[in-house]
Amino acid sequence: MLLEYAAAPESRAIVDIAPSYGLFIGGQWRPAAAGAAFKTVNPASEEVLSEVAQGGPADVDAAVAAARAALPAWSGLPGAERAKYLFRLARLLQEHARELAVLESLDNGKPIRESRDVDLPLAAAHFFYYAGWADKLAYAGFGPSPRPVGVAGQIIPWNFPLLMLAWKIAPALACGNTVVLKPAETTPLTALRFAEICQEAGLPAGVVNIVTGDGSTGAALVAHAGVDKVAFTGSTQVGREIARQLAGTGRRLTLELGGKGANIVFEDAALDQAVEGVVNGIFFNQGHVCCAGSRLLVQESVADELLAALRERMATLRVGDPLDKNTDIGAINSAAQLARIEELAGAGEAEGAQRWAPECELPGRGYWFAPTVFTNVSGSHRIAREEIFGPVLSVLTFRTPQEAVVKANNTPYGLSAGIWTEKGSRMLWMAQRLRAGVIWSNTFNKFDPTSPFGGYQESGFGREGGRHGLEPYLDV
Ligand code: NAD
Repeated sequence: MLLEYAAAPESRAIVDIAPSYGLFIGGQWRPAAAGAAFKTVNPASEEVLSEVAQGGPADVDAAVAAARAALPAWSGLPGAERAKYLFRLARLLQEHARELAVLESLDNGKPIRESRDVDLPLAAAHFFYYAGWADKLAYAGFGPSPRPVGVAGQIIPWNFPLLMLAWKIAPALACGNTVVLKPAETTPLTALRFAEICQEAGLPAGVVNIVTGDGSTGAALVAHAGVDKVAFTGSTQVGREIARQLAGTGRRLTLELGGKGANIVFEDAALDQAVEGVVNGIFFNQGHVCCAGSRLLVQESVADELLAALRERMATLRVGDPLDKNTDIGAINSAAQLARIEELAGAGEAEGAQRWAPECELPGRGYWFAPTVFTNVSGSHRIAREEIFGPVLSVLTFRTPQEAVVKANNTPYGLSAGIWTEKGSRMLWMAQRLRAGVIWSNTFNKFDPTSPFGGYQESGFGREGGRHGLEPYLDV
C-alpha cells in the first residue's frame, strides 16, 4: 500500500507499507509457523495499516536457532569489521529518516516533529556511538578481551519503537552478540522496516532477527533456554514477572521499567524556562515516556505564578494530526492506553484533586486525550503515585529543599527527576539526595547516547547508553 501524506506542504512524504509482514528470521521473511497474524492500526484514524505475523513458540525457537548459528562468525569478526556494519546501519537510518519518521508517527501516533527531530536522529546517533566502541572494548574497563554474552532476547515497548530498538540492538551487536528482538504489538512497523535495512546493509543472516507478536511471544522468548540474556523495557508488572521467571536460571537480565518523575521548580528558577521544561517533561510524546516529569513539585511562593503561566502555555498546545508538523500532542497509542489514562484521571477527580485542561477540539476518530493538569494533589492520591503514561500532570507544592527531596522520593520508582534553580549549590545538594537514575538540571527529557540511562527501585536495573550500556552484553 503506497500511502501519500500531505498534511502540511513541507511535511509531504510518501511511505510504502506492505499489506502484510512476516517474521524476519535468519535473514529471511517467513509467515508465523501457526499462520497467525494481527493488525496494526493508525491510532490517529483507527485505520488498519498492515497485518503482521504473530510469532509463537516455534517461531521464537527458529529465531533463537538462527541467532545461535550466526554467533560464532559474528563474535569472531574483528571489532573494526563489526563497527563497519554498525556505521552502515546508522547511515542507512539517516538516509531513510524521513520515511521512518512518517512510519513511526503513523503506527505510534506521535507528532512528526518529534519522530523527525528526536526519535530518528537519536536512533542513528546510538548506532554511530556504539559503532565507535566495537573495536575499543579492550579499553572499556572490562578486562583485555571481554566476550559477548551470546544470544540476546530483547523486548521493547511502543512509546519509542525505533529508538528503543536502537538502544537494544546497537550495544548488543557492538559487543559481538546476536539478537532476537520482539517489538510491541501496537508498533511493529519501524522494526520490520529496520529488518529490511539490515538486509540492505548486508548484515550477515541471523545476527538480527525480528519476531513480532504480543505478550505471549515475549513470554516465549523469555522462557527460551537458548537466550543467554534478556533485555526488557516495559511495564513494572511484566518486568517483575520476567525477573521471577529468570530467577535461578543463571541467565542475564536488565529491566527498564516505569517511572513517576518529579520536576522540581524552586522560587529562584527562571520561571519562563521552567514552564517550557514542565510542558516538555509531561506533554512530549503524549506523556508516553517512562522518565516523564509527571509530578510537578513547585515551591509554594511561586506556585500561583507558575501555574498561571503553565495554563497559558497549555492553551497554546495543538492536539491533532500527528503528520502535521505544527502538532504538539498527537494520538494516544491505543484504545487500551486511552482507557487507562481516563481511568486514572477519573480517580484523580474522585479523590478530590482539581482537574483542568484547556479547551481543545479533539478529532472525532482515533484515540485522543487533552493535556491535563491536576492541582490540590496529595501524595497519597493515585495520580501522584501511579504511572499514568499519558499527558496528565499532577502538581504538588513544597516549602523547603528538604521537603522537596522527601516528596520527590516518595515513590516506589526511581527513574528521573528535573531540578529548576539558578543556584548551583542547591542543584548539587538536591541531586545528591534524589533517588533517580537520571537527573536533569534546568532542562528535561534530554537524551544522549554517551550518557547511561536507567532506574532504581521499581524502575528496574541495568543501564543503557554510554560505556555502562556495554556491560550487560559482555562477559568480563
Ligand atoms: P508492557 O510491559 O505491557 O509491554 C512491553 C513489551 O513487553 C511489549 O513488547 C509486550 O508485548 C511485551 N510483553 C507483555 N507481556 C509480556 C510477558 N509476560 N513476557 C514477555 N514480554 C511481554 O508495557 P507497555 O504498555 O508496552 O509499555 C509501557 C511501559 O513501559 C511503561 O510502564 C513505561 O514506563 C515502560 N517504559 C520504560 C522505559 C525505560 O527505559 N525505563 C522506556 C519505555 C517504556
